[in-house]
Amino acid sequence: MAECNCRGKCATCPCAKAKDPCTDACHKGSPNESCINFQEALQVKAMSVSEIRKALASYGLSPIGDKSELMPRLAHHLRNQKGDSAVKEETPSAGAGGGNAKTLIDDIIRYQDEHAILLSLAGVPITSASSVAAMRKAYLKLSLKIHPDKHDSSAESKAAFQALVNAFDTLSNPEEEDDDVPSGKRKKAERVERSNDNCYETHIYCPKCHIPWNTPDLGLEKGAYNFFMMGIKQYGCGGCLLRFGCVTAVHHCPLCDKEFDYDPSDYHRQINCGNAKCTGKFGFWYHPVSALRERRIRSEVKAEQEKEHKRRNQRIRRAGRAKDRAPGESCGPVLGF
Ligand SMILES: [Zn+2]
Ligand SMILES: [Zn+2]
Ligand SMILES: [Zn+2]
Ligand SMILES: [Zn+2]
Repeated sequence: MAECNCRGKCATCPCAKAKDPCTDACHKGSPNESCINFQEALQVKAMSVSEIRKALASYGLSPIGDKSELMPRLAHHLRNQKGDSAVKEETPSAGAGGGNAKTLIDDIIRYQDEHAILLSLAGVPITSASSVAAMRKAYLKLSLKIHPDKHDSSAESKAAFQALVNAFDTLSNPEEEDDDVPSGKRKKAERVERSNDNCYETHIYCPKCHIPWNTPDLGLEKGAYNFFMMGIKQYGCGGCLLRFGCVTAVHHCPLCDKEFDYDPSDYHRQINCGNAKCTGKFGFWYHPVSALRERRIRSEVKAEQEKEHKRRNQRIRRAGRAKDRAPGESCGPVLGF
C-alpha cells in the first residue's frame, strides 16, 4: 500500500474516508479516470455487485465485468451525470407531463420490486444502507416529477406513485428485514415506557391526495397512530386508497402547523420541527396498547411482508425467464433527467 504524503489533508480527503492511500489526483479536485475515491465512487463502493449491475443496466450501460471494472464505470457515469443535471436544472423545465416524466413513470413501474434501484432513478445511487435523508431526497425528486396531480391522475402515474411510496416506506423501515443491511446497522425500535407529557396526536396527511389520515370515519383502532408512527404498519388513505407509511406521509407540526420531516426514530423523543420561527419542542402521543396487541400487529405485518417477498421473487423470476427467452432484446431504461 502506497504511503500517503499529503500532510494532513487526509481528514477531508475521500481516500481517508475510504481507508485507501491517497493519490495525487485526490487533492486536485478532478480525479483522473482511474481514481475511484471521489464522492460518487464512495457511494458505489458501498453497493453490492448485483446492485451496481442493476444500476448500470438502468442507465443503459454495460453490466458486464468484475467489480473492479463495474465500480469505476458506474461512478464516473454518476459524476458526469451530476454535472449534466446541474446545467439542465438552470434551464426552464420543459413542463411536467412531458416525455421524460412518462419514461420515468414506466421505469418506476418496471422497478417496483427493486426498492433501492427505484429510488436510484432520481440520479444518485441509493442502497438499503443509505441514510433516510438521502432516500427522502430521492423520493421527493421523483415525487415532484410523477405525482398524479401533474399527470391528470393517469392510471400509470397512480401506479408509479404507489410504487414510489412503497419503495421509500419499505427501504427506510427499520423493522423491515433486509439481507443487504449489515446486522446491527439498524436497531429495531424497543418498547419504551414513557409519559405523554407535551405529546400530541399529530396531524398526518396523504402524500397523494392531501386529505387527513386517521380521521374517525376510518374507524381505526386507537393504537393505529402508534403502529403508523413507529413505522410498523402502512395504512390506506380514506380518499384515494394509496397505501403509505409514516416516512412518506405529510406531517404537520402541532405547534406551528408547518410541514416537517418525520422519522420513526423520533416517535419516543421530544423534537423541534426545524422551522426557523418554531422553537418549541413536542412529542408524539402513545396510546396504551397491550403488549399482546402490538405483537399481533407485528406478526400480521411480518406475515404480509413474507407473502409480498414471495410475490416479488416470483415476479423477478418470471421476468428473468422472459428475458432468457428473448436474448436479443435489451433496452435499458433511459433516464428522463
Ligand atoms: Zn490525502
Ligand atoms: Zn483519488
Ligand atoms: Zn389520499
Ligand atoms: Zn413547528
